[in-house]
Amino acid sequence: MIDFVGAGPGAVDLITVRGKNLIEKADVIIYAGSLVNSELLNFAKKGCQIYNSAEMTLEEITSVMVSAEMDGKNTVRLHTGDPSIYGAIKEQMNILDKYNLEYKVCPGVSSLFGAAASLKTEYTIPHVSQSVIITRMEGKTPVPEKEDISLLASHNATMVVFLSAGMLNELSRKLIRGGYKSDTPAAIVYKATWNDEKVIKTTVSEIAKSAEKNNINKTALIIIGDFLGNNYKRSLLYNPSFSHEFRKGD
Ligand code: SAH
Repeated sequence: MIDFVGAGPGAVDLITVRGKNLIEKADVIIYAGSLVNSELLNFAKKGCQIYNSAEMTLEEITSVMVSAEMDGKNTVRLHTGDPSIYGAIKEQMNILDKYNLEYKVCPGVSSLFGAAASLKTEYTIPHVSQSVIITRMEGKTPVPEKEDISLLASHNATMVVFLSAGMLNELSRKLIRGGYKSDTPAAIVYKATWNDEKVIKTTVSEIAKSAEKNNINKTALIIIGDFLGNNYKRSLLYNPSFSHEFRKGD
């Protein structure tokens, strides 16, 4: 069996119980060495073959999986955070499909959520934002024109920007051009849940300056929105006047 496993955002104990069990059973582990905490590999059994996918091509990765499968071995493909977010898993799965090989996915805690925990915040606040936009700046990987950050910014919703720590001046410009006020609260979360995590509160116009001051140019999420401020109304769910299936209001 081949299991795609979410390693979580960084802290070793933020992998799921299932993910840890799969690592313990694995004969082969291919881990994303650039971001996965290598301490997770200590859970591997003796003799487990370990590969760092940061040094491999798609073809090399899938050929390791295919030959392990032919030998009846258990393979774990360990991805950072949750594999469904910028994980490039589809292309691996398509190759496995061609060989008629079975695989499963074990979810992980995305850095999106690791960062929210580090910020001690809620992305969805009544009357402020009820939507979370997960996006990135265009880099070597193109972003569809209709998803340009300046278009997404027009919603003024909560926005979490991945893979963009090296393009922060341009990010701010797009955010402001799109409709966020320049003093809209923003946060930079570097290496969320790792020991050397940094959490920086700033504003949309100051994102690049704040990152530079703190020497951050990678492994960060940029998080934008009024939910980071203190202007909000309490939820209906726990309001004494509100009735619902489990509680009668006054
Ligand atoms: N699948 C991963 C994301 C992989 S893309 C997830 O669910 O989190 C890699 C990008 O994710 C990085 O460039 C950075 O923007 C972000 N990232 C990953 N781990 C992070 C962490 N611990 N703290 C902040 N950002 C992180």
